[in-house]
Amino acid sequence: MHLPKYTARVSIVLASLALISNVGYQQFFKSDLQGIDEGNSRAITGVVIDSEKNKENYEPVASLLCEHFYQTACAPKEIIHDPTGSVQPDIKGEVEALRLYETILHEHPDWSNEQIDEELVHRIYTPKRKLMLLETYGWIKKRMVHLIETQPNQVISKDTKKVLIARINNIVLELPPPVSLYANEPDLFTKNDVYYEGFPDGKTVIRVGGAYLLSAKSWFNRVFTIAHEMSHAIDPCEISGQAILVLGYEKLVNCFYEEKVLSLTQLKEGCTKSNFIGELFSDWMATQITVQALQMYLPKFKNQQEITNSVVNSVKDLCYQEGSQLSNSDSHPEPRTRIEKIFSKNTEVQKILGCKKKIEKMDYCTFEGKTNER
Ligand SMILES: [Zn+2]
Repeated sequence: MHLPKYTARVSIVLASLALISNVGYQQFFKSDLQGIDEGNSRAITGVVIDSEKNKENYEPVASLLCEHFYQTACAPKEIIHDPTGSVQPDIKGEVEALRLYETILHEHPDWSNEQIDEELVHRIYTPKRKLMLLETYGWIKKRMVHLIETQPNQVISKDTKKVLIARINNIVLELPPPVSLYANEPDLFTKNDVYYEGFPDGKTVIRVGGAYLLSAKSWFNRVFTIAHEMSHAIDPCEISGQAILVLGYEKLVNCFYEEKVLSLTQLKEGCTKSNFIGELFSDWMATQITVQALQMYLPKFKNQQEITNSVVNSVKDLCYQEGSQLSNSDSHPEPRTRIEKIFSKNTEVQKILGCKKKIEKMDYCTFEGKTNER
């Protein structure tokens, strides 16, 4: 049924590829489909698989990241390799997915559209990749529940904690095959999107686009991305219909305003006109979880550069989202805000990077308000 859409897209993308003259981009597209690694299914247990390790690396300097994180992490187009993998621009994954689709079409001209879709899904969502994502999702879930559980009762009451934790535990990570799982979103197999969706019957799911699996291999990036989506299940906008008042959320959101991450208009409008607050919250939560992933990995890093690269890769894909931000700039913070004010300003991120600035003098928002006002 979606064959015309795919084939049209294959031709458009491949035609535009031919026009791209940027050498850096051209090299992204050279990779052989056979060479796609299987993700890092043992990242959590510590066995590192990195097939890209021998490629020449761009290595961001920690002291520059401490001063100008966004520019240092995002300005160069180079791909950064951390011990668990790299993060390539979104288009790279989409092109790989489309090429794969085209290859299957050529190999099996007699196949029905459904058969081609099934084959595409089998080749992208391999058992290893699925296992890695399921492990990562399970790990994030535990960390997120623990984060909520350990908040002081004055900022999140016992009853509210139960509601939030139930919502976290209710999330299902839906990964094909079968193809029918994403029946209402067939394009997702060739897209970079990872998203959270709540259904009227109370079911909540996380879905992962096929292209994302091909472009983002860094475990740290997967932790941030999936944690961001899972956080939507408990974000202030998503739970606004539940008539629960969470003091910790109010303190956090007010702090975003004080820190000029949120404008007065946005603060007053709350969740009525956009999901901006929900997006900020999810970036903030994802940061808390990613910090734990980085800390857990600290004993395994061989040197400071590996740490620095992993920190950057956690949010590297956010650098590339400027284009897509234009269409919904009212609901997503700017990449610089997401990367710098929410992620890199986190005091633990600063410590991991070894930033020299007196960390106790920095303000960072928490459920208890600004860190310095505790
Ligand atoms: Zn979001």
